[in-house]
Amino acid sequence: MSHVIHRSLLHTPPMAIKGDGIYLIDSTGKHYLDACGGAAVSCLGHSNKRVQAAIKSQLDILPYAHTGFFSTETLEQLADNLVALAPGMGKVQFLSGGSEAIEASLKLSRQYFVEAGRPNKHLFIARQQSYHGNTLGGLAVGGNRWRRRDFKPLLMQVHHIPPCYEYRWRYADENMEEFGLRMANELETKILELGADNVAAFVAETVVGATLGAVCPAPGYFTRIREICDQYDILLILDEVMCGCGRTGSFFAYEQFNILPDIVTIGKGLGAGYQPISALLCRGGITEQIQLGSGFFQHGHTFMGHACGTAAALATIEVIEQDDLLANVQLRGNSLLGKLKQAYADHPHIGQVRGIGLFIGLEFVQDRVSKAPFDASLRLHRRLKNSAMDNGLLCYPMGGTID
Ligand code: PLP
Repeated sequence: MSHVIHRSLLHTPPMAIKGDGIYLIDSTGKHYLDACGGAAVSCLGHSNKRVQAAIKSQLDILPYAHTGFFSTETLEQLADNLVALAPGMGKVQFLSGGSEAIEASLKLSRQYFVEAGRPNKHLFIARQQSYHGNTLGGLAVGGNRWRRRDFKPLLMQVHHIPPCYEYRWRYADENMEEFGLRMANELETKILELGADNVAAFVAETVVGATLGAVCPAPGYFTRIREICDQYDILLILDEVMCGCGRTGSFFAYEQFNILPDIVTIGKGLGAGYQPISALLCRGGITEQIQLGSGFFQHGHTFMGHACGTAAALATIEVIEQDDLLANVQLRGNSLLGKLKQAYADHPHIGQVRGIGLFIGLEFVQDRVSKAPFDASLRLHRRLKNSAMDNGLLCYPMGGTID
């Protein structure tokens, strides 16, 4: 019997013993084509020699130095490289996972307004059917009802507006631009209801990941969101933990939607699964405000800015650049999306094939015309995952998408 608290306490998963390119191999020798890179993590496959060598070499030189005492070369270099890649961003903090990056951005937003002499600004607005991590702050801003349900009494109060989810929210007589504008204006309505003086930030996934399945914003949606945030002096936090680091075909997904955030979070593909590492990037003005005040961001973790994590991320970005992988994601993504759309154009139970780059989702429905979902008790997503796994394919399932 395993002593591990596995995700399911009823089932011990197969034992992965080796990674080889796009495959994971279990203890029986079975190969699984890792089509989802775990949870959109392993973007360079499982045996990239350059990333492995960078980590090994870092281990030989310096495994760890606490950021309360030292900076390190890889930490500084990675920050320089990321700021150069991120339009509008001036500073970076490195953490270990996506949830930590979200927690840090919530605290940074709050502290920014406290130091700017506006301590009333304490509320966060986010969207329904979103995911921002499993820590209490991440769960609170997240809009996944199932994940939040049991922990609700522990969560800070966050206000959720509807998502920009065209498949289910667009009216028949509305074009995409009108739809995008209407959904963005939900933010203004909510701000006016709460009072702009009380609101610190709006949090959204640029392209919605696990909860909705690769949902892109409607044209003009984020342009209007930016306008509203500027008008009411509210920070815009874009969560790109899943959709960032090249998955959509640009290093940051926001580059493709005509928008500059105040803060952006990344994780997962940043270390490509070779090391746990995430980051928040922010506009220089945010940290300048704190520099002029207390001079101290009241936040930190033992493993932030870890030398081996930053070495892995540096090597990952180098591989993405040297091998021109963003162009490849665009090319292969367009081809895959086109083929899936064609293959499932008449499938009775696939309501929509959607996505951007190599971030693609299929929404399953009981009935295509009414868009009625399958009965939740069927746990269709788990059956699909298990069936795919039996056939040697890994894909990332989610149920309860509509609420
Ligand atoms: N934000 C988004 C958009 C995510 O998809 C995830 C994880 O799936 C997180 C945050 C949390 O990241 P982590 O699981 O690394 O804590």
